[in-house]
Amino acid sequence: AKTRGRSRYEFFDVGLRRRMQRRLRLEQDLRDAVRHGRLWTAYQPVVDLSTDRVVAVEALLRWNHPIHGPVSPTEFIPLAEESDLINLLGAHMLRETTRELGIRRERGTEVDLKINLSTRQLDDPALVTAVEHALAAAGLPPSALCLEITESALMRDFVLASETLTALRELGVRLAIDDFGTGYSSLAQLQRLTLDTLKIDRSFVNGLGRSRDAEAIVTSIIAMAHAVELTVVAEGVENGEQLELLRELGCDQAQGYYLGRPLPARELWA
Ligand code: C2E
Ligand code: CA
Ligand code: CA
Ligand code: CA
Repeated sequence: AKTRGRSRYEFFDVGLRRRMQRRLRLEQDLRDAVRHGRLWTAYQPVVDLSTDRVVAVEALLRWNHPIHGPVSPTEFIPLAEESDLINLLGAHMLRETTRELGIRRERGTEVDLKINLSTRQLDDPALVTAVEHALAAAGLPPSALCLEITESALMRDFVLASETLTALRELGVRLAIDDFGTGYSSLAQLQRLTLDTLKIDRSFVNGLGRSRDAEAIVTSIIAMAHAVELTVVAEGVENGEQLELLRELGCDQAQGYYLGRPLPARELWA
């Protein structure tokens, strides 16, 4: 029994070591990728449901690893968040996407920009100035930028987050609560944050047309958001049935593969 216990322990140890090695390697590679500008941005259109026009694009980071191929941001963002890398990455993202949008706007494409922010970025006091500078350099009005923060991130660091958010708000930048419905925020907290937009998490949109519960949840989220005058965006719309239901339920905007996949700027605006 003793030997078995020991070998099991060693087996666990090897697995753990491997995972740690992949993480270390990825973190190292990510650092290089940021430094050498090998990350790129995909843009996904956001459609206004009353006009059927594209009113904004959401910037989503992409990383093609030379060996592992595409690594999902759900894997590399948390990695970057464990070190100072997230601030480097965030700053790069901010500069690149505002510049891109500035160029598009000069060419007559009047769309807004949505960027995702992580908690670590909200902790950084330099964020507000970085945002201000990026907008000025790109010639964008602050109201053209919407920063998305997940519900769970907002609730984790409530007070601190809201201080940075207030400063951003004073700049004139718009704020969105992302992945709404997965956390436990109250209507009172939502109101206090003075947000502009609420994004309904994909998991609820996914159930539309298939589950009465999903429809009830989406209905009440929209009612709640509208009660505190937030614009409601549904994410992850994958078919026409979901889109029509969202329209009937009074949802303001939508995005998803059905409306447009995330694409490189040169393909989206080809
Ligand atoms: P998110 O902010 O909720 O972004 C939406 C995710 O849903 C994106 O995944 C997008 O590609 C995907 N998506 C869009 N439409 C559909 C659809 O119809 N069906 C399905 N199944 N998926 C759809 P992606 O690009 O893999 O990004 C995952 C997450 O990584 C994002 O979730 C966001 O939280 C984070 N992320 C991405 N880029 C950045 C960034 O620049 N900074 C930070 N802090 N986080 C980022
Ligand atoms: Ca988002
Ligand atoms: Ca989301
Ligand atoms: Ca998400």
